Amino acid sequence: MDIIPEPDGPLEEEDIFTSAPLRLTVDLGALAENWRDMDRRSGKARAAAVVKADAYGMGIEDAGEALYRAGARDFFVASVDEGVTLRHYAPDARIFVLAGIWPGTERRFFQNDLVPVVSSEEQLAFWMAVLADYGDYPCVLHVDTGFNRLGLGMEEALALVDDVSRPASFAPVLVMSHLACADDPQSPMNKEQLNLFRQVAAAYEGIDASLSASAGIFLGEDYHFDVTRPGITLYGGQAVNGMANPMRPVASAQARIVQIRHVKAGQSVSYGRALRLERDSRLAVVAAGYADGYMRSQSNGGVPLRQVVPKPGQGFVAGHRVPVAGRITMDLTIFDITDVPEHDVKAGDYVELFGHNIPVDEAAEAAGTIGYEMLTHLGLRYARAYIEE
Ligand SMILES: *Cc1c(COP(=O)(O)O)cnc(C)c1O
Repeated sequence: MDIIPEPDGPLEEEDIFTSAPLRLTVDLGALAENWRDMDRRSGKARAAAVVKADAYGMGIEDAGEALYRAGARDFFVASVDEGVTLRHYAPDARIFVLAGIWPGTERRFFQNDLVPVVSSEEQLAFWMAVLADYGDYPCVLHVDTGFNRLGLGMEEALALVDDVSRPASFAPVLVMSHLACADDPQSPMNKEQLNLFRQVAAAYEGIDASLSASAGIFLGEDYHFDVTRPGITLYGGQAVNGMANPMRPVASAQARIVQIRHVKAGQSVSYGRALRLERDSRLAVVAAGYADGYMRSQSNGGVPLRQVVPKPGQGFVAGHRVPVAGRITMDLTIFDITDVPEHDVKAGDYVELFGHNIPVDEAAEAAGTIGYEMLTHLGLRYARAYIEE
């Protein structure tokens, strides 16, 4: 017999998850296995773990702790805030802050043992001034080899090596750069950046060097240096275009069917009557919309991107793939479930938006984007369960 909880008794997390309209399952076992996999693929180099943007939307607390337990001891975050949070879950790890250091934040770096990634002349000048007061403290030098985002120029970086004016306490522990085209193994850009970075690594001999994020690791040993920086692959996403994805899925997103409706051929669905039904149809209205990162651009009809990406998004329910019907709205998405046998699906069931059956990269592609964006746009309404399979 079911036990009915006290009306004002505390709800267990599990109950909240079971009854949630929108839920995200994060498999920490798969996350740990993916990190070990990338560490192995990194050969003699050791793999760090990139956990910026709340660990690609998975939750930096749980993901950070799981990666630490898996053996990761080098972490990259984007911001100081992320570093401060992560510190609780990775007590003796090295935490590198990609956004670097700004005046006013140095105390938080020192107090939480965070290492700044210095990537411009201004940051370098500021950091030198800070060090003159503070004394020995590690940093990372980010050198731009053609990406033209962050990083010191090649000349500045090479000149710095024997710059006698730098304070004795200036102690870079890592030099790094970032590849622009590693997702395309054929791109000549990879070799060009590799050759430039080799000069940097040679000039900073004795200091660890790091060039590759997830995709670069697949380019082979030449690209590994001492430390690799996998991010997306840890979370099960695809790094290299056109290659079968070898990673385990980590995130599974599901939305509840709020209502099933029977609609006659010739009727239209959702905003703008963008989709006209060609047959009598059964439609499932589910509790996820673009406010939950189920992007409007994967609608079926009436969104300009549909001319670029020919297929609408698909959900998965009762063993069937089901296409999005009409436009995705803020809180709700409609799926065409006409081809699913009627007794197999009812209101209250869940449709998988992505996960084991619909790879996150496939959902992203239908939206005209990449798995990275899908994962980091999940929004605040998901109930989350962290499991270990
Ligand atoms: C985000 C990022 C990474 C991780 O990239 P993935 O493609 O997710 O593996 C590594 N290095 C830098 C500098 C980054 O900004």
